[in-house]
Amino acid sequence: MPAPESSVNHGPAATRAGAILAIDLAAIQSNYRRLREELGGVPCAAVVKANAYGLGLARVAPALAAAGATTFFVAQIEEGIALRERLPGAAIFVLNGLGAGTSDDMRAYDLCPVLNALDEVERWNAAARQAGRPLPAAIHIDTGMNRLGLPRQELARLSDEPARLSGIDTRYVMSHLACAEEPDHPLNQAQLDAFNRRRARLPAAPASFANSSGIFLGATYHFDLARPGVALYGVNPTPGRPSPMRQVVRLQARILQVREIDASQTVGYGATRRVGAGARVATLAAGYADGYLRSLSDNGSAWIGAQRLPVLGRVSMDLITVDASGVAEDLVRPGGFVDLIGPHYDVDALAADAGSIGYEILTALGARYHRIYLDG
Ligand SMILES: *Cc1c(COP(=O)(O)O)cnc(C)c1O
Repeated sequence: MPAPESSVNHGPAATRAGAILAIDLAAIQSNYRRLREELGGVPCAAVVKANAYGLGLARVAPALAAAGATTFFVAQIEEGIALRERLPGAAIFVLNGLGAGTSDDMRAYDLCPVLNALDEVERWNAAARQAGRPLPAAIHIDTGMNRLGLPRQELARLSDEPARLSGIDTRYVMSHLACAEEPDHPLNQAQLDAFNRRRARLPAAPASFANSSGIFLGATYHFDLARPGVALYGVNPTPGRPSPMRQVVRLQARILQVREIDASQTVGYGATRRVGAGARVATLAAGYADGYLRSLSDNGSAWIGAQRLPVLGRVSMDLITVDASGVAEDLVRPGGFVDLIGPHYDVDALAADAGSIGYEILTALGARYHRIYLDG
């Protein structure tokens, strides 16, 4: 097995780095193609909200565009503006809708709001009157998530008074699944039925329904545009089954110190964890300030190759302590690196140990990591 530090050699910033986050853009592109394959001929957008799920909008979005994505979804208008600068020709939808006072910016940056409520429809219609032409948007109808999207009563008003949509170029009618990662959940079929019933009350328009996991629920969920996010970034959209996606991130933390414990003692804050004489403790340069969740205290593990080094005691702000007792001494040296996310321990495994989900692990990845983008 190569020395762990041999896997990292990326210049002076990397030499100074406490931890190195490698983001595999080629894997993201391959995941995009894999989802397209699953979709047959149905077009596939890319959801890049929250800085492309923490992985860096500026690098990730152009990589997805190079793989063929032409339609993108962000959550906030600011994210849409940032993306517009990178991708002048893309269709960009803003999921959080049309806030009061944002119509001018929406138009100036050629963004399409996802209209989530009747007052947003009203606002965009007024903007269209002012523009003297129809303005593009998606209309989001709620089908059982009860989070965003036109509730049933608002949809009824819209279908009774279609003139409210006269200025709106409806690119998509969309809805969002609450339980897509549980294929047997009855809400999936119920939402699908509600979507088909309710969208029939609006003027005919292309439909968009499936997120990452929804794509794997089968063709009846595909409609005219899929909206995957997390699967692009390597999280398994089919939990409990082998992942169809390629892993995208690798996180390596530097070993700062290694110590032999010479008598039974505790490790870290709160003295939560006792180790015996002869234990070897390695201290790593990452912590909860980097998004390494504190719930990983005594739960997570670092890895050297296929060897597991369990987290010992509490995760601190900038440091993690791990049990290196069983690992050959020459593999655990100050200056070397261990995997916090890597080939033997992916985002989903870390999330499970943290009592969380891959989405949260990715979007929490810290700003202090030295980031490296691999593009094949
Ligand atoms: C975040 C989001 C998506 C993407 O979901 P994933 O589970 O990450 O694929 C799709 N549609 C809407 C409305 C969303 O909010």
